[in-house]
Amino acid sequence: MKLHEYQARDILARYGVPVTGGGVATTPAEARAIAEQIGGRVVVKAQVFVGGRGKAGGVKLADTPEQAEQVAGQILGMNIKGLTVEKVLVAEAITYEREFYLGAIMDRASRRIVMMASAEGGVEIEEVAKTNPQAIVKVAAHPMLGLLDFQARDLAYGIGLTDAKQARQFAQIAMALYRAYMDVDASLAEINPLVVRADGSLQALDSKIVLDDSGLFRHPDLEAMRDSSDEPEAEQRAREAGISYIKLDGNIGCMVNGAGLAMATMDVIKLFGGEPANFLDIGGGASKEKVKTALQIILSDPNVKAVMFNIFGGITRVDEVAKGIVAALSEVQTDVPMIARLVGTNEEEGRRILAESALIPAATLAEAAEKAVQAARAR
Ligand code: GDP
Ligand code: MN
Repeated sequence: MKLHEYQARDILARYGVPVTGGGVATTPAEARAIAEQIGGRVVVKAQVFVGGRGKAGGVKLADTPEQAEQVAGQILGMNIKGLTVEKVLVAEAITYEREFYLGAIMDRASRRIVMMASAEGGVEIEEVAKTNPQAIVKVAAHPMLGLLDFQARDLAYGIGLTDAKQARQFAQIAMALYRAYMDVDASLAEINPLVVRADGSLQALDSKIVLDDSGLFRHPDLEAMRDSSDEPEAEQRAREAGISYIKLDGNIGCMVNGAGLAMATMDVIKLFGGEPANFLDIGGGASKEKVKTALQIILSDPNVKAVMFNIFGGITRVDEVAKGIVAALSEVQTDVPMIARLVGTNEEEGRRILAESALIPAATLAEAAEKAVQAARAR
């Protein structure tokens, strides 16, 4: 789950990262009022879940409250990379001399939290990694000991901070970023740019945090910050129904119980020359209602030319799933062919229920995949 800049900023502020204050506005008049409170020059920033807002015209400076109102009017409602700007952050504009990047990520290869810093701040780190990878300094935090002081200082020296006071402040900010990352169960936390002001002090001008969805249950306060504006409707529906759904680019919709079985199903579809339209795990003990929702989600994808059910009835009873499919089919208008391979607990009962429907039965996974690929090709 992504957080907005202002939300990430508030979290980092609690850990002692020097951030710019200001407030969030949804109308130009509100932006003006915030600018009046701040007094002096302000920066007005689009709050949308994309990087490169600056380049896209979503970050603008304003010298007066009138100007803040004017630029807020330009930015609010603006479309940045497909997202409409509904909120702007109005903050004190900072004059700076240098821009750095500082970030924390989960590095799967080393299985550690890696802290990265770069003297090429202000541009996206992916860009620096491509064009000038040696400009990125990295240290890996120990899983038990965490990020150690000397590592944080190494980052500072590594990006050329020779001034002892600045290096110390940079190290403190790196430690704070690491603590925040761990505490909120983030998968990414970054400050870009982290700038050096005229008086030599460091200041975070842009903060970004992405939370690990698997850790969200531990943070109801963060869950409450969710903004679903960039989440596709199907994914939002799936999340609310407790269904794991990931849209893919193929044309064979899959409804499966169990993540491992879902992966295997996708593999078998590919083996028979097809392309899965989605990953979907309805989970264990799925109810009729859930099956119906899952089918509606699958069919909401216009690319879907065939649907394949692969259900192994363990905790989930096959007859219950069959009832769900029948109930769904009676309510969902569709002529998309559907292939079902249902085995396990109560499978005879399940088959009997499905025999009265338009579903194409399959005895094995291979047969189901083959039929699904054929059906999708025929359309
Ligand atoms: P991003 O483009 O989405 O990463 O948005 P940022 O918040 O990083 O802003 C983009 C750029 O706007 C920064 O790299 C800065 O150059 C500039 N910027 C942002 N805040 C300020 C500020 O307070 N003062 C000044 N002078 N420039 C700023
Ligand atoms: Mn930025």
